[in-house]
Amino acid sequence: MDPMLVQSDDMDTESSMTPSTTTRSRALATEAVHAGRDDLAALGLHAPPIDLSTTYPSYDSRGEAERIDTFAATGARLEGPPVYSRLDNPTTARFETALARLEGTESAVSFASGMAALTAVLLVRASMGLRHVVAVRPLYGCSDHLLGAGLLGTEVTWTDPAGIAEAIRPDTGLVMVETPANPTLAEVDIRAVAHACGSVPLLVDNTFATPVLQRPVEHGARIVLHSATKYLGGHGDVMGGVVACDEEFAARLRQVRFATGGVLHPMAGYLLLRGLATLPVRVRAASASAVELSRRLTADPRIARVHYPKVGGAMVSFEVYGDPHRLISSVRLITPAVSLGSVDTLIQHPASISHRIVDEGDRRSSGVGDRLLRMSVGLEDVEDLWADLCQALSSQEAGRESSASGESAAGLLVRGQ
Ligand SMILES: *Cc1c(COP(=O)(O)O)cnc(C)c1O
Repeated sequence: MDPMLVQSDDMDTESSMTPSTTTRSRALATEAVHAGRDDLAALGLHAPPIDLSTTYPSYDSRGEAERIDTFAATGARLEGPPVYSRLDNPTTARFETALARLEGTESAVSFASGMAALTAVLLVRASMGLRHVVAVRPLYGCSDHLLGAGLLGTEVTWTDPAGIAEAIRPDTGLVMVETPANPTLAEVDIRAVAHACGSVPLLVDNTFATPVLQRPVEHGARIVLHSATKYLGGHGDVMGGVVACDEEFAARLRQVRFATGGVLHPMAGYLLLRGLATLPVRVRAASASAVELSRRLTADPRIARVHYPKVGGAMVSFEVYGDPHRLISSVRLITPAVSLGSVDTLIQHPASISHRIVDEGDRRSSGVGDRLLRMSVGLEDVEDLWADLCQALSSQEAGRESSASGESAAGLLVRGQ
């Protein structure tokens, strides 16, 4: 772990060199606050309006027929007023515009959740007869499950990054990686993997790094996936997913979204746009605490191993010598809960919760051991977080001693019989 490698400030310099549709491209922090809101002043508005309409009046059915034909043929965003909110919604469209700007892509398409977003990507490829996916473990537990269980008729070859080129077949529609990966924070060299993919699109799940720390398309990825539920929303109160990509792929995604219906609710779109405004500030502040906590955990004799990625971020995973369940039940300030990316700190036991659905052998071989805990560091004061971790670690240690003596007592009992 090298805490100096949190690249928040350098990334701003880089983002100012990212090509953009504006004449002079703006820094990430500026885009975060203004993207998707460019028209508001002209509308006489300050906050973005929330459009909850499911349908829109139109006295011109012939005109609508033409617009629907165009959408069916091209998947392009509708020109003019919306028709029906499964097709498009002005509020969610603002969030899509803003996220595309932050990721440096032409387009973005939003969904009801991260899993709905991944489903749409897989359906786009399957509809082209490309059902084979090459993927690198670990992935978020449910992504692993969706690929591996064949629910969508997907066939997956699991490999390590070095094996990708060899695993690709004529019917391979997608290569999927997560970096840093959930929950081990293992990192993949996006540029090297993109090279190995050749013409097969590379999907990078960028949920953990966010565009503040890493923009995968700048390194050759074609598709960027987010569980917007996490950092993009940032307050633990909105579920959503989004895919940032080129317009050609976005068009296919819109067609699938229209047909399958996994749309983002306008209220969620509003909250996600609101969340983006503070994304750079939140990610940097939480990352600074995560660096400090990972440093202290690394020096703590009660901790067997700490995982913290080179790219930085607000996630820290660590392996304890003692009973991880005891630690989970002992935290008081930190919330013991699955999910991540909220303003408050959450901790969970991946083998029991986020990755429970993954086959035990696959889970272990991808580094998700029984003593691994995953912590999403929030915006609390770092000393308060450390104090809570310390008291939880102490009770977990106490548990370890009593369970160790319990074991030996049981051992004696067995031998005594
Ligand atoms: C949570 C998560 C998902 C799934 O997103 P939902 O919004 O829960 O459907 C996908 N990828 C990663 C890395 C996640 O953490």
